[in-house]
Amino acid sequence: MELTDLKGIGQTTAEKLLALGLSEVIDLLFHLPLRYEDKTRLTPIDELVGFRYAQVEGEIVKSYVTQGRRPILVCEIDDGSACMQLKFFNFYYSQKIKMRAGLRIRAYGEVRDGMYGMEIIHPEFSLGAKQPALAKSLTPIYPKSEGISQKLLQKAAAQAIQMLQDGAFELDELLPADWLAAQAMPTLVEALQFVHSPPPDADVLQLINHTHPAQQRLKLEEILAHFLAMHQARTAIQQLNAPRLIMAPGQAQGVMSLLPFELTGAQQRVVQEIHQDMALNHPMQRLVQGDVGSGKTVVAALAMQAALVHGKQAVMMAPTEILAEQHLLTLSEYFPDREVVFLAGKVKGQARAEVLAAIAGTAEVIIGTHALFQADVQYRDLALVIIDEQHRFGVHQRLLLKQKGQASEDNTEQLMPHNLIMTATPIPRTLAQIAYANLDVSVIDELPPNRKTINTLLLDNQKMPQLAERIKQACAGGEQAYWVCTLIEESEHLRAKAAQDTFAELQEWFPDLQVGLIHGRLKGDEKQAVMDRFKANQIQLLVATTVIEVGVDVPNASLMVIDNAERLGLSQLHQLRGRVGRGNRQSHCVLMYQAPLSENAQVRLSTMRETNDGFQIAQQDLKLRGPGEILGTRQKGSMEFRFSNPEQDAALFQQAKGMAADLLACNPQACEQLIQRWQKQAQLLAKV
Ligand code: ADP
Ligand code: MG
Repeated sequence: MELTDLKGIGQTTAEKLLALGLSEVIDLLFHLPLRYEDKTRLTPIDELVGFRYAQVEGEIVKSYVTQGRRPILVCEIDDGSACMQLKFFNFYYSQKIKMRAGLRIRAYGEVRDGMYGMEIIHPEFSLGAKQPALAKSLTPIYPKSEGISQKLLQKAAAQAIQMLQDGAFELDELLPADWLAAQAMPTLVEALQFVHSPPPDADVLQLINHTHPAQQRLKLEEILAHFLAMHQARTAIQQLNAPRLIMAPGQAQGVMSLLPFELTGAQQRVVQEIHQDMALNHPMQRLVQGDVGSGKTVVAALAMQAALVHGKQAVMMAPTEILAEQHLLTLSEYFPDREVVFLAGKVKGQARAEVLAAIAGTAEVIIGTHALFQADVQYRDLALVIIDEQHRFGVHQRLLLKQKGQASEDNTEQLMPHNLIMTATPIPRTLAQIAYANLDVSVIDELPPNRKTINTLLLDNQKMPQLAERIKQACAGGEQAYWVCTLIEESEHLRAKAAQDTFAELQEWFPDLQVGLIHGRLKGDEKQAVMDRFKANQIQLLVATTVIEVGVDVPNASLMVIDNAERLGLSQLHQLRGRVGRGNRQSHCVLMYQAPLSENAQVRLSTMRETNDGFQIAQQDLKLRGPGEILGTRQKGSMEFRFSNPEQDAALFQQAKGMAADLLACNPQACEQLIQRWQKQAQLLAKV
């Protein structure tokens, strides 16, 4: 059914609705109300105490405009039980004239216990002796967008529900009936009817908190579909063949003997889990999570070794060029006798042709950025793909699919590579189980020994002179420092310019120091040159934009200053701070801020001061920002939830996980339909 089949919806409105993610009548049913208004009853004024929202009706006693800095229109009403005030801060004088004493008025709004008794600020109201009939059901309030009125959405949804009741279209019940009965959950149709037009006796509080059984039922179905889709993706890959890469005892030694350290217990365990996966004849699908500095790179190298000892190729993809180059350096050290090549966007022309030839030929360790997965990159014998993921989730899913396409196009016999995903940001365990339900998860939950915890302090940016003194002393003692500018300029160009200004300013503050500058506008090799000089301690103070956020490893750097730290989110701050504390010196991180701080910024900065534990920080981040932000709601594809919230609905997620397994076993067809129903919703949402 087309939206234009509904009364009151023409082509223009239909287009606006499309912007809300609604393309058909059925989609209206899945566009759920955010909250409800109870206009089914009138509350006597003397019973208002304890209500948050209420509808009242009475006679206007008087209305007047207060004198003061900001005039307020006050309308006093009496309903026989008591008097109260309706107040308007923005009003037209004509409005005052209309609110004549003696007229009846009905008003709905948020009730407050004011200075002169109960009051409602800016109520919705209707004037006149003859008031409309009371609503028969609670009034749903929908999430809306530009140019679409609440009334329009309400009318459209009401028509859609009516059509569903009249059987104008079908909506299959996909959850097993016995199961619904056992859980005392409503059917899909009942649930949709309920949430779009709840009867007057519905539990408003439950509805507002989204904990009503009807809402829970819809969420459960959505979550179930998510797990089913993840499962489907996983099974599809599992059915493919992969080379069995068994490591003989001692074969890891090649890498190990070059390490200046012993692996931590956690690293050993994770490496073992990876090697076990790679010894199987279907592709590994494993995620490695570890806090900043927990030593993921060496774990990656040991995974690569399993491919290399079998004469096969291993690839490592990083989210940025800087990070890829960093991996190139480290891995070249770990594999001095192997052919290591590098491919990124900046590798062009003849150089690129040579790298491509090597990848199709003798190269063994291949490192780079997204460029590694362009169509014209042909591998000789790729057995392992490692993706070092940035903050964003879901990148890996697209890549896995891409590889799948590659294999089936030319040769179905081809063996698929094993997959290892490493996250640069710790994710709360609960969230990881949801976002990565299709992966096995290993956690490096131990830091290398003798790491000194980074000492974090907050500093008002008025106190620059003290800080400057401190930096001078530190650098005189052979230490190195980062100075991170958190620029909020619109364009990369303006950000670069602002970083340039800071750089000039800091050169004035520190005439005796070598000050360097790195930002996103520098060319790849210019960036590299700066990083090389910093590594070689030819630069003592490195002014940087957040380009250094992920993965940069200069152990001698022990001081990190983050300018206007209040602008950054927790995970970004944690990543930045992780650039220091990598050597044996006591490291410090100074979070400079511009007072006054918002409440949220205060929580962020004090969390940073109180803990160095990435998982704890991630948990706090989840609380402050919500899972949507963390998982990147706008990211197309993997983690779109229309109604559910991984934090709030943890119990449902748990329940759905178990159900997914049962349903797959007993009704694969329903599973398929569920995935399709909700994928469509997710895709529509992703377009918004
Ligand atoms: P991340 O997990 O953030 O990617 P890295 O792999 O960059 O961490 O490792 C951080 C630093 O710790 C590197 O300098 C690395 O050489 C060192 N390192 C890794 N594992 C150990 C270990 N077991 N003992 C001592 N140092 C280690
Ligand atoms: Mg790393």
